[in-house]
Amino acid sequence: MGSVPPPGERSPDAPPEIAIAGRSNAGKSSLLNVIGRQHNLARVSKTPGRTQRLHFFRERQKGFVLVDLPGFGFARVSRETKRQLSLEVEAYLDARPTLRGLVLLLDVRRDPQTEERMLADFATARRVELLCVATKIDKLGRAERLRRLRALDAAGFGSWLTFSAVSGEGRDAVVQAIERLAGSRISAGPGS
Ligand code: GDP
Repeated sequence: MGSVPPPGERSPDAPPEIAIAGRSNAGKSSLLNVIGRQHNLARVSKTPGRTQRLHFFRERQKGFVLVDLPGFGFARVSRETKRQLSLEVEAYLDARPTLRGLVLLLDVRRDPQTEERMLADFATARRVELLCVATKIDKLGRAERLRRLRALDAAGFGSWLTFSAVSGEGRDAVVQAIERLAGSRISAGPGS
């Protein structure tokens, strides 16, 4: 718990935060890389000693912070580690006044499962805006794409943005949506 959240960022005028979540292999690192290139992100906190922790990246121009939540759904992680990870994520999500949005990533070929539903429910309960992103859209042909998007739209999460780290599809829309979430209640800080 000492690692989450980093001290000194809890004051009311701390920068707004957008958390990014998705199961392992959903394409979270790839999306962060794409956004990072566009946005000059700097890692501001990484806890040593454990491989799976929350990582904080500050956007230099606009001043918001992206929070890389640990991926869930690892097949090889022990039950105890899974429990610990989810406690950590819960602790973060529950007690973070600066949290403005939750970006939920899902491989477009998969259906949402319990973890995705829990995160979406959490966002509703905490009144944190949810942004759903279907990743790896380049993997689908036109017919399959329509079929999958229809299935996702029917899953009860609201609408999904499409994204591909390979083709670049959806990159600008995702970046703009994240900026909008971050800007929804930013108090102007130094340099902004
Ligand atoms: P993470 O575990 O959620 O961080 O997922 P990664 O970003 O590491 O991606 C998992 C795998 O999916 C890697 O082999 C990536 O190269 C691949 N991948 C990620 N995004 C895309 C995408 O948009 N299109 C395609 N075709 N592959 C992707």
